[in-house]
Amino acid sequence: MKDISKGDIENNIPLVTRNDFDRDVTVKGVKLGGKRLTIMAGPCAVESKTQIMEIAQAVKEAGAHLLRGGVFKPLTFPYGDPLGRADTGSGEADRDRKDILSKAEAYQKAERRLAYIKEAGEKHGLPVISEIIYADSLAMLSPYVDMFQIGYRHMFNMDLIIALSKTDKPILLKRHYGESLRSLLGVAEHFEARGKHNFAFCERGVVVPHTHNVESRSIIDIQAVPALKEYAPTVPVFIDPSHSTFKRSYVASVSRAAIAAGADGLLIEVHPDPPNAWVDPLHSLDFKAFAALMKEIQGIAEVLGRTL
Ligand code: PEP
Ligand code: MN
Repeated sequence: MKDISKGDIENNIPLVTRNDFDRDVTVKGVKLGGKRLTIMAGPCAVESKTQIMEIAQAVKEAGAHLLRGGVFKPLTFPYGDPLGRADTGSGEADRDRKDILSKAEAYQKAERRLAYIKEAGEKHGLPVISEIIYADSLAMLSPYVDMFQIGYRHMFNMDLIIALSKTDKPILLKRHYGESLRSLLGVAEHFEARGKHNFAFCERGVVVPHTHNVESRSIIDIQAVPALKEYAPTVPVFIDPSHSTFKRSYVASVSRAAIAAGADGLLIEVHPDPPNAWVDPLHSLDFKAFAALMKEIQGIAEVLGRTL
């Protein structure tokens, strides 16, 4: 793997590495980076209106700033996505069916869930972040979503990069678990070169040979925080302790470490009944665990002269 060289900084990533640039990454009034930490919390998947309403209230009370929730799930296998299945007839997905919906049907279902998360976010004053996986869904998503997440699987998706370069809405760009910081900065430069500056990075773990089991699915590259701060000082850096650890009992520890290392915030999955979450039941936190973690983060933030 190549290190980032002086030549890279001069020729390949000159814009993202600038330190004299006044970058403004603001999500509907919530400014990312700076002294204040930003916590994005919510379910992996928006399952129902009741679920997302309940979660929005709980994470807001605990001090979260953004509401996250997926309406398209880019999963490893085709049968694990309850959001991609047919309806019960009452507008909710039928968990037991394994139908693979057409794109048009999937969009229709996604739009219903987007309306739920938008309503939940507005009710509790939480801007909404959701993942985009199809460039042609941008117009459909835009009225409902305040920040777009690019998941690790789509880090190099040129269609998405080009489409998202044209929106004013900020982007959370996740690093693929097998990709270098050099590549991540390269993707960021693709945005910069197109005049798109309001994005933030999200580290969600790297995979090394001994990590092929649940106990260590992937390892948060904690050094990515200071490294990205050195290479791209104006870009906010987030950590996702949920998808990296894939294990509930590790999430709080890795979250505390991330904040201590200087991350600008976290992306955490929260669910009222984690073992029964439709997607990612193994790492979602319940409301009590999330609230307890927020208190700990507050303490760490204070020591570092930051606020929550
Ligand atoms: C997610 O945040 O819901 C997600 C699927 O993330 P990742 O791309 O990191 O797996
Ligand atoms: Mn998830």
